[in-house]
Amino acid sequence: MIYLDNAATTPLDEEVLKAMLPYFCQTYGNAQSQHAAGRAAASALLAARDELASIFGCKGEEVYFLSGGTEAGNLAVKGVCEAYKTGHIIVSELEHPSVYESALKMRERGFELTVLKPSKEGVISPESVESAIKPNTIFCAVMAANNEIGTIQPYEEIAEICAEHGVFYYADCVQSASSLPFPKGASAFAVSAHKFNGPKGIAAMYIKDKSPIKPIIDGGRQERGLRGGTSNVAAAVGLAAALKAAVENREKNNLSIKRVRDIFLDNALKIEGAHLNGSRELRIPSNANLSFDGCAGEKVVFNLDLKGVCASTGSACSAGAVTPSRVVESCVGSTRAAQAVRFTFGKYNTEQDALLVADILKKVVLQIRN
Ligand code: PLP
Repeated sequence: MIYLDNAATTPLDEEVLKAMLPYFCQTYGNAQSQHAAGRAAASALLAARDELASIFGCKGEEVYFLSGGTEAGNLAVKGVCEAYKTGHIIVSELEHPSVYESALKMRERGFELTVLKPSKEGVISPESVESAIKPNTIFCAVMAANNEIGTIQPYEEIAEICAEHGVFYYADCVQSASSLPFPKGASAFAVSAHKFNGPKGIAAMYIKDKSPIKPIIDGGRQERGLRGGTSNVAAAVGLAAALKAAVENREKNNLSIKRVRDIFLDNALKIEGAHLNGSRELRIPSNANLSFDGCAGEKVVFNLDLKGVCASTGSACSAGAVTPSRVVESCVGSTRAAQAVRFTFGKYNTEQDALLVADILKKVVLQIRN
């Protein structure tokens, strides 16, 4: 099997597993308990939080553990709306459903919503953010890098614009955590461990001190009252270990992943009627999203799977109906969106994987066309 779906999830690293193991059967206390077992767990949680704070360049009290990137997106949109009660919110068309669908829900509840359109290259311009801001704007979400087409957004410029206008800016860093620097000027951003060889079901969210945001889950006083629920200490330790390794090896991994991705891309683009979706330059090193004339994306993915290659479409497939990706469609139109196939590389992929998959892909595309 050749796994080229690292944007969906990545394998857990052995070293991360080792760091987590003591927190299942030995140091298993509830981090909120007053006794020795609880204090031991709390101290591990604190160490993980401090490690993340030093990576993010913030205070430990500004780091929150959540169940994943999905919860972070929900908390950002709904938590800020809950704090303000009324106002205008802005999200980009590129956002993950956790942000996008939350924004639609807030519109149903009476908030005004502007959805920013990307360019054909899959990029949101800072100018479009600035011109969308109104006197009653409370919130803006433009992700750091897109999960489907991998395009990098001008998140530092957007952060500056939002700060000037006193707008809460959320930068979803779930896809960029291992490859790009963290935003310096955002009000909040989040990373999800399973995207950088950490465990599933845990995210860390930076939220600037004193930001207007309310909890969306009622419960205990964990995470300084913002997120109730017994702390998942093992997962928090795993997240910190995985992010530390990812950031320490960022440059090296970026170079090698990009090299392998580019070998694949150069070969795949030689297939007649192949198109790259989104900018080639403004793209995280791991992503190649391609459409092939005359080939439905899900057919390509299905046939690749039969040949042992794991890739994905940008389509949501439910009850047999395939809906082309909203994100890809907004950049390159519905025909190319229905043909889109996403290949995402990770640090374990090799040059041989790239060449072999490009070769298999060519055969699959020709077979479908015939
Ligand atoms: N945001 C982006 C950009 C993502 O790609 C994903 C997952 O694919 C999420 C949020 C959700 O993260 P999680 O799987 O941790 O819920």
